Amino acid sequence: MHHGIKKLLLLGTGHAHLQVLTRLAQNRPADLDVTVLTPYPHHTLSGMVPGLVAGRYSAEDCQIPLEPLVKAAGARWVQGRCTALDAARQTVVVSPTSKGQAVPSELPYHLLSVDTGAVFDRTRLEADMPGASTHALMVHPVEVFATLWPQVMERAVNRPLSIAVVGAGAAGLELLFAAEQCLRLHGAAGARFTLITGGTEPAADHPRGVQRRVLRRLKALGITVLRDTCVGMDHGVVRLGGGSELACDLPLLAIGTHAPAWLPGSGLALCEAGHVLVNDRQQSTSHPNVFAAGDVATRADAPHPRSGVHALRAGPTLAANLLAAHEGSALKPHHPPKNTLSLLSCGAGHAIASWGPLHAEGAWAWAWKDRMDRTFVAKYTVTVG
Ligand SMILES: Cc1cc2nc3c(=O)[nH]c(=O)nc-3n(C[C@H](O)[C@H](O)[C@H](O)COP(=O)(O)OP(=O)(O)OC[C@H]3O[C@@H](n4cnc5c(N)ncnc54)[C@H](O)[C@@H]3O)c2cc1C
Repeated sequence: MHHGIKKLLLLGTGHAHLQVLTRLAQNRPADLDVTVLTPYPHHTLSGMVPGLVAGRYSAEDCQIPLEPLVKAAGARWVQGRCTALDAARQTVVVSPTSKGQAVPSELPYHLLSVDTGAVFDRTRLEADMPGASTHALMVHPVEVFATLWPQVMERAVNRPLSIAVVGAGAAGLELLFAAEQCLRLHGAAGARFTLITGGTEPAADHPRGVQRRVLRRLKALGITVLRDTCVGMDHGVVRLGGGSELACDLPLLAIGTHAPAWLPGSGLALCEAGHVLVNDRQQSTSHPNVFAAGDVATRADAPHPRSGVHALRAGPTLAANLLAAHEGSALKPHHPPKNTLSLLSCGAGHAIASWGPLHAEGAWAWAWKDRMDRTFVAKYTVTVG
């Protein structure tokens, strides 16, 4: 398709790009120059972060070191983040991860693949929930959240904390159950927990049976559920849409995420919510030399929920299509699965499993999730030496 493609730029090292790098490590065309732009030296597996909060995993258990994987793929790692993209000029503007770090100001590409995941856009967040970007502990980026959680635990051992989790999707619930378990076992007695759902039922995107199981568990643990929206925050206070205020030491923000703020000016076709619009080949509907997968992308033909499982499933097709675009051969379609397995952890040691309308729970479901997550990390951890 595209002859003369010599520079492939991978933005982010999300679930799909881990597979692209693995594929390149097996077989990278000699005339393909690959650069990876990503801010952290590890991929932190978000699905394991609740286990980290619960005290079951160390930070290292949840991390895939990127440098050996990038090296094995014969690629160059630029440690930084994309802050602007110009699809017409085929360049990406780079910001360093830390002050004083030397990075190229721009990276050119012939072929671009975007897998930068979910983000909170602070400007939009402040418009919807003034004070949140100052007062809340945010779950994204998970790499930062994982380094801040130990500071919460330091406070929690000295006095009983009151924690309000904002967002009742899978991530918010898993973090809530994990935090409750950890503070009950290791924190000062008397910690209090509140779930602010945004007005819906907890786990509203799951089948009714899963919602009932979640509610039973929240009740058994004495967690207060407020079916209200959070409309702002101040020091020690969360403001609710119904007009009341909730006093809390720590609001933990796990609401739905945004598209990156650097996409609207890029020239790429975007969906209404601002994510990269792609076809069934994971290829931009406006720019054939741009591909995207994971939470940053929306399939124009078959929109599906944003999840690690979906990001992962798109990986093999994305890898094959990037190589096909380089060779000029035919691209292949990716068919997202209709149902995916959901394993919602309720603290370490217990999880609710669901697949389509089927659901069940127990220690076995946690063991299953634990095994899958550890296998995933091990699979992409390239041992050096
Ligand atoms: C606590 C928690 C638990 C979860 N549990 C599950 C679960 O059990 N199952 C499930 O399916 N989903 C789960 N999810 C959702 C899942 O994490 C996301 O849907 C998934 O990570 C999306 O994968 P991705 O490939 O799009 O991006 P990610 O895996 O998030 O990777 C994005 C990458 O891009 C990098 N990046 C970000 N911004 C830039 C930039 N500007 N420039 C360059 N690089 C950048 C990041 O550092 C990272 O390397 C959970 C989420 C959370 C928060």
